Amino acid sequence: MTARIVLLGPPGAGKGTQAARLAKRLGVPAISTGDIFRANVAQHTELGRTAQRYMDAGEYVPDEVTNTMVADRLQAADAAEGFLLDGYPRTEAQVEELDRMLAESGQSLDAVVELTADVDEVVARLLNRAVEQGRKDDTESVIRRRLEVYLEQTAPLVALYEQRGILLGVDGLGTMDEVTGRLESALDRQER
Ligand code: AMP
Repeated sequence: MTARIVLLGPPGAGKGTQAARLAKRLGVPAISTGDIFRANVAQHTELGRTAQRYMDAGEYVPDEVTNTMVADRLQAADAAEGFLLDGYPRTEAQVEELDRMLAESGQSLDAVVELTADVDEVVARLLNRAVEQGRKDDTESVIRRRLEVYLEQTAPLVALYEQRGILLGVDGLGTMDEVTGRLESALDRQER
């Protein structure tokens, strides 16, 4: 079966780690918009310069910029049979744009997985990651802003995908292996 999957969840819920694991198992690329932005920042591209201001402040990069970047990435040959989107869509406008991109090639999403985690836990995880990885947007005030933006702009997408009947909720608390196990069984159950 094809696997066109979106992974939703607050910053710090462990999306990146789980996306990489799951994508490997499904044999599709994990596409992280955050990673693509960070790579552009590191390479000093025009896109990187635009994105950096927003990222450093914990704000979303404007939809037009993000949508164009994702449209390009989804056209790559490795995404023809499926993909696991990590960190996209994050706004209603991005949901609409993704629908449009997929419809153009007769595709649609198979599942949207929401990794849930409570706010105190994600703040603690992000502060810990700041120490381990030195990410510039992992300071406490930026973390709080990123969570606010998530709650305002991205959390409402959960209800939207639930109405479409493709939402799977997975508890993001626990060890990495526990969460991977839950994700895999949620997707297996859905397939049947
Ligand atoms: P992430 O690694 O997914 O936490 O993303 C890091 C940062 O990249 C976010 O805080 C945003 O500034 C930006 N970003 C990533 N994905 C998106 C998106 N879909 N829309 C807008 N901004 C994004």
